[in-house]
Amino acid sequence: MRKIGVLTSGGDSPGMNAAIRAVVRKAIFHGLEVVGVRRGFAGLIAGDFMPMQLGSVADIIHRGGTVLRTARAPEFLARESQEKAVRNLRDQGIDALVVIGGDGSFRGASVLGSYGIHTVGVPGTIDNDIPCTDNSIGFDTAVNNVTDAINKVRDTATSHERVYVIEVMGRNSGHIALAAGLAGGAESILVPEVPYNLNEICERLERGVKRGKLHSIILVAEGAGSALEVGEALKKKTNMETRVTILGHLQRGGTPTAYDRMLASRLGAAAVDTLLEGCYGKMVGLESGKVKVTSFDEVFRQKKEFPEDLYKLATILAI
Ligand code: ATP
Repeated sequence: MRKIGVLTSGGDSPGMNAAIRAVVRKAIFHGLEVVGVRRGFAGLIAGDFMPMQLGSVADIIHRGGTVLRTARAPEFLARESQEKAVRNLRDQGIDALVVIGGDGSFRGASVLGSYGIHTVGVPGTIDNDIPCTDNSIGFDTAVNNVTDAINKVRDTATSHERVYVIEVMGRNSGHIALAAGLAGGAESILVPEVPYNLNEICERLERGVKRGKLHSIILVAEGAGSALEVGEALKKKTNMETRVTILGHLQRGGTPTAYDRMLASRLGAAAVDTLLEGCYGKMVGLESGKVKVTSFDEVFRQKKEFPEDLYKLATILAI
C-alpha cells in the first residue's frame, strides 16, 4: 500500500477535522501518500480529489465541521456511480480509503469493498447510534452544546416560573437527550427507546410545583416526537405556562471538546494502523478506553445499546 484516500460523509460532526488530521499525519509518518476526497461519495464520483500534506491539516484540530466538506449522495446507490467512483480511485492510484461518517457511510464503504477497494470506517456522528464503540466522534461536543443550552434556558425558566420543552437531535436515537438531560438535570427525558406517558409527566410537573419548584425542563429527542406537540399537550393538561425551544443545528457546530479531539486523533490513527496491518472492511472504535476493530458486517448486525440504567438514574434524580 502506497497511497490512501480519506473522506467525510453524511452529517458533519465536531471532531471530524481532528480525525482527518490524524489520518493524514499518521499515514505520512509511515511513508504513505494521502489524498483527500471532497464532499464524501459525491466527490468520489466527481473525482474531486486533493493531495494532502502535513500542512494541509494544520490549524484544524479545534474547528467544527469538516475541511473536506461532506454530502449526502443518494446517487451513490446506483451501480454506474459506484463504478465511476472505483474508476476514479484506480486512476488516482489510491489503494485504500478511510471513510469518516455514520452507518450509511459505512454501507457505502462496504459497497466499495465489494469492488476490491480496501476501506476502514471511523465513526463520526453526533447521534452516537453506532454499535461496537462507546462513543462516536462529535457526540460529546453535541451533549456539551445541549447542556449549555439547558443551563441558559433554565435561567429564564426559573425567572418566569415556566415549563420549557426542549427538542434535541439524535435522529432515531435518544443518546443525546439522555446524556444532556442527565447532565443538565432535566425533569423528564423523552426518547424513542422508552415508551412515555404524558399523564405521568404532568403528574411529575404538578408534584414539582407542589414542593416549590420554580421551573421544569423537559427534553424531547427528535425521534420521540415533536416538542411543539408535547408542549401543546402539557399546556392543555396542566394549564402551566409552557414554552418550546428547538435547538436544531446549534447542537452540531462549534469547537470540538477535548474528549472528541482525543477520540478522533486515536481513531484516525488506528484506521491507518488497521490498513497497514492488511485489515479492511472494518470499523475502528473505542471500547472501555481501548481501540477495537470490528467488521462492517458485525456493526450492521448489531444495534447500539441504550443505557437503560442511566435512564432510570435520570428519572430517580428528577423525582
Ligand atoms: P449521519 O449519522 O450523520 O446521518 P450517515 O453516514 O449515516 O451519517 P447517510 O446520509 O445515511 O449518513 O449516508 C451517507 C452516504 O453514504 C449516503 O449519502 C450515500 O452516499 C452513502 N450510503 C448510504 N447508504 C448506502 C448504501 N446502502 N449503499 C451505498 N451507499 C450508501
